[in-house]
Amino acid sequence: MKKSGYIIWTAAVIALSLILLGGCADGKENLSGAVYADSYEMDLHLDTEQKTLSGTADIHFTNRTDGELERVVVRNYPASILKELKKGSAEISAVTAEDGSPLSFSAGKDPSVVTVELGGQSLAPEESAVIKVTYKTDIPEVRDRFGVYREGKDEYYLLTFCFPMLSVFEDGKWNDSPYIFDGESTYSKVCDYKVRFEAPEDFLVAASGNETTTEAGVTEIKAENMRDMSIIASNNMEVQTDTAAGIRINNYTFRHPGYDWIDTYNELTMESAKESVEMFTELFGAYPYEELDVIQCADDGGMEYPGLILIGLPDVDPREGLMKGMENQGSGPTLCLLVAHETAHQWFYAAVGNDQYQEPWLDESFANYCENGIYGLAYPPALKRAIEIQEAASGQEVCLGWGSEEEVEEFLPKEPDKINQSYEAYKNNTDDYGWIVYEQGAQFLFELRKAMGDDRFFSMMREYYKTYCLKEAAGKDFVDLIHKYDDSKKVQRVIDRYIA
Ligand SMILES: [Zn+2]
Repeated sequence: MKKSGYIIWTAAVIALSLILLGGCADGKENLSGAVYADSYEMDLHLDTEQKTLSGTADIHFTNRTDGELERVVVRNYPASILKELKKGSAEISAVTAEDGSPLSFSAGKDPSVVTVELGGQSLAPEESAVIKVTYKTDIPEVRDRFGVYREGKDEYYLLTFCFPMLSVFEDGKWNDSPYIFDGESTYSKVCDYKVRFEAPEDFLVAASGNETTTEAGVTEIKAENMRDMSIIASNNMEVQTDTAAGIRINNYTFRHPGYDWIDTYNELTMESAKESVEMFTELFGAYPYEELDVIQCADDGGMEYPGLILIGLPDVDPREGLMKGMENQGSGPTLCLLVAHETAHQWFYAAVGNDQYQEPWLDESFANYCENGIYGLAYPPALKRAIEIQEAASGQEVCLGWGSEEEVEEFLPKEPDKINQSYEAYKNNTDDYGWIVYEQGAQFLFELRKAMGDDRFFSMMREYYKTYCLKEAAGKDFVDLIHKYDDSKKVQRVIDRYIA
C-alpha cells in the first residue's frame, strides 16, 4: 500500500520536475538494495589565516536494503589527498546520531574510507537517519583541485573533494575506490545540498548550485539534484554574467589591472562556454540546472563539477605570475577547446553519471569527443577568433589536434585498445589512460557516428541522455542503446573494435 502511494507521488513529482529540470526527471530514486545520501546540510568555515576548512555535515540517508543496516561508510577524501602530498591532515573529530549520542568510527588503510558503527542506532529496512560529521582539514598550498594558490596578497581557494560524503552501498558492498590525482574516481548519486559557508568578507564565493550572500562573509548555497559539491573562494575574483539556451552563465575571472589580451581571453572563455552550452543542448538535451559557473583558476588543466567548471590557464608559466602569463596570445584555441570539454561534462558526468573509477570512458571519451569532434570540428566564432589572434601573433598557421574529418579518419587506429577498462588497468601507466580513454574513446564515438549516420546517432544520444539524466549509466546501457538504434554488421564491427 505504501508502494502505490509512492508511485502516484513519484508520477506527480516527475511531471513537475520535467518542467523544472529542463527535460530531466528528478534524479532522486528509491533504489532497492542500496544506501546513499538523500541530502546534506553543511555548516562550513574557511579560516584563511590557518588555511583550514572546518565544520559539520549532516548526512541524511535511508536503509534501502532488506536487512538491518549496522554501519555506513563515509568518505573523507582530503585525508588521502593530504597523506599523499605529505601536507597536513584531515581529521574527523566526531560522528553523532540524531539524538546527539556519539557513534564510533575508524578509518581504514585508505584514510579516506571511514566506517561508522551505528551501534544501538542501527536501521531497519526503509528507515531513515541523520548522522552529523564534525571535521577539520588543512588546505594545502598547491595548484590543484583541492588547495590554495597565492600570488602576493591574492588568494584562490579551490575547495573540492574536501567535504565528508556518504559512500554508495550497492551490489552488497560499499564503494571504496581510492582517490586518484590524475583522473576522477568518485561515484555518487544526485541529492540536495544546503550549505552555510563562512569566509572573510572581502572574498567572492562561487559554488555548485545557487549561491547567495546573506550577510557579511556568509554565503548560503542551495543545490538540488547534484552528485557533488564544489566551492571556490577568492579575494581577487570578479564575475560577468550572460545567458545561453535559457541558462545563466557566470564567468568568474581574476581581477586584473586591464591588460588588453586578458580582456580578450575572458571574452573567449564566456563565448566558448555559451557556444558549448547551445551546441550540447541542441544535440543531446537541456542542461538540468539554472546556472553554470565557469571559474578561472591557477591549475594547469580543467575540471568538472555539477554546475561548475574550473578552467585552468593553458600555456601559462606560473613563474611569470598569472597576469603576465596570461599575456601569451597562443593560448586562445586551447582555452576554447578546454571550455568545451569541461562544459560537455555537464552532460556526461554531472547529468548522466557513471562510476568514474570503473568506467572512466563513459565521461572522458564523451567529453573529449564533444570537445574535438563536435565543438572543434564545427569551428564556431569564438574558436575561429582565437585561431586568428594566435596566427596573427605567431605568424604561423594553427593546426588543431582534430583539424578536419578527413584528418581524423586518416589517423584512426588500425587496432585500437579496448576503451572500456577500469582505471585499475592504467594505474601504472597514466599515459595510456589519456591515450586510450580520452583519445581512442573519442575516436570510437567518431567512428560510431560515421557508421550509424547523424540521424540515428544523435537520436540514440538524445535517448541515452534523457534516460540517464540525473541517474547513472553503465557501459552496457550505452551499448544496448546502440543496438536498439542500429544492429547492422557495420556498427557491430565498430563496437567490436573498441569495446571488450
Ligand atoms: Zn574530462
